[in-house]
Amino acid sequence: MTTLVWFRDDLRLADHPALRAALDRGEPVVCLYVLDEESPGIRTLGGAAKWWLHHSLASLGERLREHGSELILRRGPAGVVVPEVADAVDASAVVWNRRYGGPERRVDAAVKVTLRGAGVEAHSYAGSLLFEPWTVTTGQGGHYKVFTPFWKACLAEPPPRAPLPEPREVPAPASYPDTDDLADWGLLPTAPDWASGLRETWEPGEPAARRRLSEFLADDVDAYDRARDEPAGGSTSLLSPHLRWGEISPHTVWREAIGSGRNVGGFLSEIGWREFAWHTLFHFPALAEDNLNARFDAFPWPELNEEHLRFWQQGRTGVPLVDAGMRELWESGTMHNRVRMVVASYLVKNLMIDWRHGERWFWDTLVDADEASNPFNWQWVAGSGADAAPYFRIFNPETQAKKFDPQHQYIGRWAPEYVTGGELLPEPLVDLRASRQAALDAYDVVKAAA
Ligand code: FAD
Repeated sequence: MTTLVWFRDDLRLADHPALRAALDRGEPVVCLYVLDEESPGIRTLGGAAKWWLHHSLASLGERLREHGSELILRRGPAGVVVPEVADAVDASAVVWNRRYGGPERRVDAAVKVTLRGAGVEAHSYAGSLLFEPWTVTTGQGGHYKVFTPFWKACLAEPPPRAPLPEPREVPAPASYPDTDDLADWGLLPTAPDWASGLRETWEPGEPAARRRLSEFLADDVDAYDRARDEPAGGSTSLLSPHLRWGEISPHTVWREAIGSGRNVGGFLSEIGWREFAWHTLFHFPALAEDNLNARFDAFPWPELNEEHLRFWQQGRTGVPLVDAGMRELWESGTMHNRVRMVVASYLVKNLMIDWRHGERWFWDTLVDADEASNPFNWQWVAGSGADAAPYFRIFNPETQAKKFDPQHQYIGRWAPEYVTGGELLPEPLVDLRASRQAALDAYDVVKAAA
C-alpha cells in the first residue's frame, strides 16, 4: 500500500499539510502532478504561467529526488487520471491541499467520490490560504464585500498556524508508475522563444522563493510602506509568482515576517488582499466573466476597437507610464502594482475597452496570473468589483507618473524614447481629458440603471 500526494498549486516540500499527512501514515509515498486542460471550466494556463510551471515542476522534481523520491507527471482530466494512478500504485489514500475556484472544487469533489467508491480514502487540507473562506463571515453569516472589515475580521481570528517543517525524506515505493517527460508537455515557448526576459528576471522554485523572502525581510521591508508605490523603487517583495504556484506558503510568509521584528503591518495587509481576492472567488466563482456588481451589466461598452487594444498590449498608446508598464509586462512577465492599476484604468476608462479584454491579456502574460487575484483586481479598477473605488475616480497616468516616477527612472527603463533630457514627449492615442469625460458620461447609464 502507498499514500498518493496530489500536488497542484503547492509546488513545495516545506509547510505542505497534505505531504505531512501522507508521511504521518507511515506508508511509502507517491507524489503526482496532473496537467489538467480538459476538465470543464478549468482555465487553460497563459503562456507566461506555463513557462513558470515548467521550471517549478523541474525544481520540485529535483528536490524530491534529493529527498529520495520522484515526481510523477501525468496529463489529462484529473477526474480520470488521479483514480487511475491511485489504482496503479495501490494507494490506501489520496491526499491534497484544497483549491478554491469553482471548477477546481467540482473536480476535487468528483475525485473524492470516485476514490471513496473504490475503497480509497481521500483527504484534503488547508495549505494555500491563511483563513478558509467559509470561516470568515459577517455578523449576519454572509461574506465580506469590503476589504477593511474583512481584514479586521481575519485579524480577530486565531492567528495562522505555524508552518510545518520540510520532511527530511520522502519514503519511496517499491516501484513507480509511468510518468510523462516534462519536456513533452510543451510548456516552454519555442518558435519564437520569447522567454529570455523571464529567464533574466525570475528563478522559479521553492529554494528561490525562500531566498526571496529572506532577502526581502532583511533588506527591503523597512522601505515598503514608504516606497511600495514607486515602480522604480524595488521595495516590494516580488513574491507573487512564488505564492501563486505555492512554492512558499502564506503561513511561512506570515510567520517569518512577524518573526523578523520589523514593521510588517503594511506588507501583511497586502497578503490580506490576496486572501480577500480568493475568498471573493470562492463566493463568486464567475469572477473572470461576470461583473461582481450586477449594476455594471448596463454599462454601454462601445464596439471593441481592436487596434486600440493592440496598441495597449504592445505598449504603443503614447502615454509614457502606460507604455512603460505594458512593455515591462511583455519583457519580464510582471508589472509593478501601481502601474497595473494605471494601465488597467487607462484601458477601461480612457480607451473604453471592457475589463475582460485586459484581464485576458494579463492572464496570458503575467507569471503570477491567478484565477482570483487577476479578475478581482481588474474588477476593482473597473469599478464593477468588490470594495470598488467609484467609477468616476479615474487614474490620470500623467499625474501618477509625476507623483510616483518623478525622475522618470521607471519610464526611462522601459520606454526610454519618451525621456529626452528629462522631458517626457508623449503622443497620445486618445485625448486623456476627452476620453475621461466620455467614460463619465457612460457611467451615467449605470447610475440610471440602479
Ligand atoms: P508585494 O507588494 O510585496 O505584496 C506581497 C504579496 O501580497 C504579493 O506577492 C501578492 O501575493 C499579494 N498582493 C499584493 N497586492 C495584492 C492585490 N492587490 N491583490 C491580490 N494579492 C495582492 N496579483 C497576483 O498575485 N496575481 C494576479 O494575477 C494579479 N493581477 C492583478 C491585476 C491588476 C489589474 C492589478 C491592479 C493587480 C493585480 N495583482 C495580481 C496584484 C498585485 O499587483 C501583485 O500581487 C503585486 O504587484 C505583486 O508584487 P509583489 O509580490 O512585489 O507584491
